[in-house]
Amino acid sequence: MTKNGIGRLPRVFRWLRNRITPSALILLYHRVAEPGSDPWSLSVTPQHFSEHLEVIRKYGYPVPLRKLNRVLQDGKRFSRSIAITFDDGYANNLHNAKPLLERYDIPATIFVTSGYVGKNEEFWWDELNQILLQPRRLPAELHLDIKGNIHAWPLGAAIEYSEEDRRRDTGHPAQEAKVGSRLFLYYSVWQQLQPLPDEQRREALDEIMAWANVKPVARPTHRPLTSEEICVLEQGGLVEVGAHTVTHLFLAAHPPSSQRDEIRQSKADLEKVLGHPVTSFSYPHGNYTAETLALVREAGFNCACSTVSGNVRRNTDLFQLPRFEVGNWDGEKFAKRLSNWFHF
Ligand SMILES: [Zn+2]
Repeated sequence: MTKNGIGRLPRVFRWLRNRITPSALILLYHRVAEPGSDPWSLSVTPQHFSEHLEVIRKYGYPVPLRKLNRVLQDGKRFSRSIAITFDDGYANNLHNAKPLLERYDIPATIFVTSGYVGKNEEFWWDELNQILLQPRRLPAELHLDIKGNIHAWPLGAAIEYSEEDRRRDTGHPAQEAKVGSRLFLYYSVWQQLQPLPDEQRREALDEIMAWANVKPVARPTHRPLTSEEICVLEQGGLVEVGAHTVTHLFLAAHPPSSQRDEIRQSKADLEKVLGHPVTSFSYPHGNYTAETLALVREAGFNCACSTVSGNVRRNTDLFQLPRFEVGNWDGEKFAKRLSNWFHF
């Protein structure tokens, strides 16, 4: 790997800067796999993940999230500490990420959506991807009844979706999709389904499947972890499992009672599997209110991660830990980002 931003700084300046503004970083990953169709940029290839770990080993001090929290609680100084986290609970975290974490001896916390564990079905956004973003012809118009409101999506030219269209959309973020494209249809339907309670979302997905005449399968690259795999993840002590609600609920859109159930139940589900307390939490979509923070604290968690970008400093709230989301960058690009983040 060529020289990067961090490497070029003389040692004395690095030391001085860290003395003045000591901070720590928490990194957010989702999947360690080849991207395929990845409208949310959730995938980092095993090769790139390995390069990231090499950079972290070289320029930072990898720590478990719980150690970083202890430093925060004790009001001690950070010195370029870096904690790695994964959201959602993809099986590739065990099969692709863990061997690399072991190779570099770098700890990580994996936040698992407990309701998907061992279900042999993909997360809802991946199922929607299988229905809408795989090469196939779809009917002319999609109608969905969501909470009594009829939503209509005339597909126009997006009726057709070729292998070439799919390749073109690979790596293209859903939020930037062109109106009228198949990717835009995916994004638009996703926006309607995202805030729904799980049951209504399930019903809507079933309707979309019937409309498209597609039955999604649990792909090895996308399937969630099983109970056995969660236990294997923690073997060796390098990986800690945290909670991420039961159904990946968009918490702030729901009453406190539903939020409480999801937060507590995900903790209980994972503790039943693991046989020990689960003490860290991450908010699905990084979405929460002041009420949610209180509910997470009351449920017995020690800390919770958001998706707000920022460094962890001495005054950071343990229940609003900022994180930097990591993209599918090579080691050199990752090192530059890391250097920028430490100056954030
Ligand atoms: Zn998530």
